[in-house]
Amino acid sequence: MFSYRHAFHAGNHADVLKHTMLIAILRHLTQKDAALMVVDTHAGAGLYRLDGDYAGTSGEAADGVLKLAMAVSPAGKGKPAALPDPAPILQDYLDMVAGFNKAGELKVYPGSPFIIQQLLREEARDKLKLFEMHPTDSKALAANIAQLQAGRQVAVARADGFEGLKAFLPPPSRRALVLIDPSYEIKSDYPKVSACIQDSLKRFATGTYVVWYPVIPRPEAHELPRRLKTLANQAGKPWLHATLAIGQGEGAVHIPGEREHGPGLTASGMFVINPPHTLRGALQVALPQLVNVLGRGRGQGQSLEASG
Ligand code: SAM
Repeated sequence: MFSYRHAFHAGNHADVLKHTMLIAILRHLTQKDAALMVVDTHAGAGLYRLDGDYAGTSGEAADGVLKLAMAVSPAGKGKPAALPDPAPILQDYLDMVAGFNKAGELKVYPGSPFIIQQLLREEARDKLKLFEMHPTDSKALAANIAQLQAGRQVAVARADGFEGLKAFLPPPSRRALVLIDPSYEIKSDYPKVSACIQDSLKRFATGTYVVWYPVIPRPEAHELPRRLKTLANQAGKPWLHATLAIGQGEGAVHIPGEREHGPGLTASGMFVINPPHTLRGALQVALPQLVNVLGRGRGQGQSLEASG
């Protein structure tokens, strides 16, 4: 069950989409004074090395964050930038990643726990609850988070995030962001996400729920956004659905048996319930830029739809 390690995929195109949207959503939610509770149900290890054994083997960041960073600030003096005027949310994302690195380097990649923690406010008493079940990654996460000395602001649990979330809804401040980002290595993750959203909307209908999913030729993966749309509509809550596909690229071969969410993954989606009203406009600018920069040819593209 635990074959998935996010370290192989850190900084890939799916992380670019996911983390760009996560930052944009958090920026909006932290504008209000009241405390925000953030729950990351599938946290991963928290921090990754892009030049380490895992990421170095798969090289997925080369088609993700590294490519985007190079398009905005090419290495080498006098080189023209492929993306001289990035959308504000893309610049914000690149600035966030750069903040974990020495100037001019891109060796460390922050996972969702570290991105979220950076944006939490001490004075507002925002809180972050992290769940990670992988024995190695949960240890790494706990050790990484301990170094932050964030005290009671951040809590790490080696437990099932789908189950653990229930205890935190509704939060005392009545303001919450929930990130649900499973690895989908087992088929049951798809119905579990739907059930989790259905249950969470009953417990706390006004929370902001963010679901990442892989766009792959599997009925469950196609069904998931449709199901989430139905659940949001039934609850009378607004939603937003964005996808990014980088395409196959020349000479791409499908390796039978290759993990569907592994290096073969060419597209992913984000479904947000109760999104900030600013998110749609921000993505209308950012998504075409991401396709231009990260697109590899056949099958590349993006989509953006929202309720209302
Ligand atoms: N959210 C992370 C980020 O953006 O940096 C990446 C998370 S990764 C896609 C999914 C993680 O969920 C893996 O590390 C996996 O071990 C973990 N996991 C799988 N099933 C879980 C469960 N039921 N509860 C908590 N964690 C789980």
